[in-house]
Amino acid sequence: MTFQNTREFARELDSKDALKHYQEQFIFPKVNDKRVIYFTGNSLGLQPKRTKAYIDEVMNDWAELAVEGHFYAEKPWWDYQERFAEPLSKIVGALPSEVTVMNTLTVNLHLLMVSFYQPKGKRYKIICEEKAFPSDQYMFQSQVNFHGYKAEDAIVEIKRREGEHNIRLEDVLAKIEEVGDELALVLIGGVNYYTGQVFDIKTITAAGQKAGAKVGWDLAHAAGNIKLELHDWNVDFAAWCSYKYMNSGPGNASGCFVHEKHHNSDLPRFAGWWGHNKERRFKMEPTFDPVHGADGWQISNLPVLSLAPYLASVEMFAEVGMDALIAKRDHITSYLEFILHEIDKEVESTFEIITPTNPEERASQLSVFLHGEGRALFDYLMKNGVITDWREPNVIRLAPVPLYCSYEDMYDFGQILKKGILGK
Ligand SMILES: *Cc1c(COP(=O)(O)O)cnc(C)c1O
Repeated sequence: MTFQNTREFARELDSKDALKHYQEQFIFPKVNDKRVIYFTGNSLGLQPKRTKAYIDEVMNDWAELAVEGHFYAEKPWWDYQERFAEPLSKIVGALPSEVTVMNTLTVNLHLLMVSFYQPKGKRYKIICEEKAFPSDQYMFQSQVNFHGYKAEDAIVEIKRREGEHNIRLEDVLAKIEEVGDELALVLIGGVNYYTGQVFDIKTITAAGQKAGAKVGWDLAHAAGNIKLELHDWNVDFAAWCSYKYMNSGPGNASGCFVHEKHHNSDLPRFAGWWGHNKERRFKMEPTFDPVHGADGWQISNLPVLSLAPYLASVEMFAEVGMDALIAKRDHITSYLEFILHEIDKEVESTFEIITPTNPEERASQLSVFLHGEGRALFDYLMKNGVITDWREPNVIRLAPVPLYCSYEDMYDFGQILKKGILGK
């Protein structure tokens, strides 16, 4: 399709958008009395209107039933997380028994590393990507220290080549082969938070396992954003947060995946009563007998008030379906890319999109170097109702989230950006 940088054209795309009506299902902040153009759904998704009712339901059950709500609430609290299994498994391409929700992301990755990072003899190294998300870097360092290794020795980063913004698949595979029988674990962010690069999860997982390692994924920027087939790709484990693309609210609960092949294994794990045999949980027995499946990694009784908004969101995603979401994602991202190139021709600065141009290697994010621009431009955008994410020295990250961004938003953004640059 040949795009045009006009309002009429953007409106025409909107009129053909199968997900258009979802825009009304979200609450947008306002600037100058107008709803904002929201590009930071990769950081904190907008609030769906339906979410409040899910929370109110728990509050009402608590008011009316108090402790009895555990068993007699509208959605009983004691096994509330089981409602996620069906819809969430579809979103990440898993069997229902392979997913659960609990804790928060970094906590879950630590807990999963208890099971899947088992350094022994010369096999103790972890491969991750260069400049991984800071929380992941601290996690790796503290995990290898905990096992008595030095970070410089045990953590192997896959580097970008000189002058390149993204990591090449061939370099990941070469590094896995090089570390070989010293490799205990590969754990990478499925979508890089800074550049938006999407990794080839299937190929990297197979290569890591062939080298004799376990392979896990941090899917913070992937869940609800890219097509995942965690079961078929034979991923050992994964975890993600729910507050980015999945719109479940600040700091909210995390989802976990543990492949079926590990469900009957005797992997070590940190246990608690909510992972104990469901039928016998309240018999208060002394010996831990894990629930079959990912639920066997549960520890504490459920934070139902934070699971409620996540359930609202998971049900919305299941209703939309990842295929429809991805179809719009690719189209609107390409339109945004087009708009950026058009505006770049009209102003003096040069934009450099550091996200891969290949649609297979990117999802709902474009990270752009605005050479010659600075913080003042970011402030201008914010003041004019464009919420973006600014990283020093001059990178903006733009996520045209398919559920609530419109094509006309992309056009408007281009016009505001142009004014912000020319007007200074
Ligand atoms: C957002 C993000 C996190 C956040 O972790 P929390 O434990 O939820 O604070 C971790 N890793 C990656 C890659 C992220 O993008």
